Amino acid sequence: MEFCEQALVLAVRRFREIDAWVRLLSPVRGVYTAFAFGGMKSRRRFLGCLDPLNHVQFKVRRSGYRSYHCLTEGRLLDSPRQLRTHPQRLGMAVNCLKFFEAVPIPAHSAAEAYALLRELLAALDAAEAPSSLVPLLFRARMTFVHGMLPVCGHCAACGRALGDNGAVCHVEEGKILCPACRSAASGGVRLPLSSGALSLLETAVAQSPDCWALCRPQPTAAREFSRAVDLLVRYHMGLAWEQGGFVRA
Ligand SMILES: [Zn+2]
Repeated sequence: MEFCEQALVLAVRRFREIDAWVRLLSPVRGVYTAFAFGGMKSRRRFLGCLDPLNHVQFKVRRSGYRSYHCLTEGRLLDSPRQLRTHPQRLGMAVNCLKFFEAVPIPAHSAAEAYALLRELLAALDAAEAPSSLVPLLFRARMTFVHGMLPVCGHCAACGRALGDNGAVCHVEEGKILCPACRSAASGGVRLPLSSGALSLLETAVAQSPDCWALCRPQPTAAREFSRAVDLLVRYHMGLAWEQGGFVRA
């Protein structure tokens, strides 16, 4: 069976001199691995395609025997223009991709995740000085895509709109409560969230990555937001960022 599809290249590993395996994100199939036999040599079939962060139209053959994917041809659609030469921006992109790969996405979220990652890379490529919060906003958004980020506009107990008075995030229960209801949740880690931190959660869920890049919050709000996202990710997804990679917490 052969098919054509657009995909984002997440990682490329060379093996046996001229062959490669490629980790791809497709809007239809989600994340999968495919072989590119002769891919590191064939300029004709894969010209400029086999590098992480590229957006490529691939011809893919699915072998019946053992059922693996094999790339037979690629056409580069677009690739970042500046991202690879700016260490700080590249570091943010790599951080986001590592987080993305650490948490398998359900098939029905593939198209949403694909669009989000494409927008994220475009934003990091275009912005002169993207906010250092971009990776955390991305993590918060992915947590939301996975259904693990609490709804943030309203108190989870009384339904009142949250705003100027701030709120409390109950990490274990994954709930955000207004100050009056803070005792509605049982014991556990409760983090105070100022109105600034709440609006960062809203930004993560409702805004696009090019808005994230422009985000310049107050340091306190950024700290509260970062801590809440870290703890939610650690508790509900079992992941923590350590020494350049996500590890099982
Ligand atoms: Zn309440």
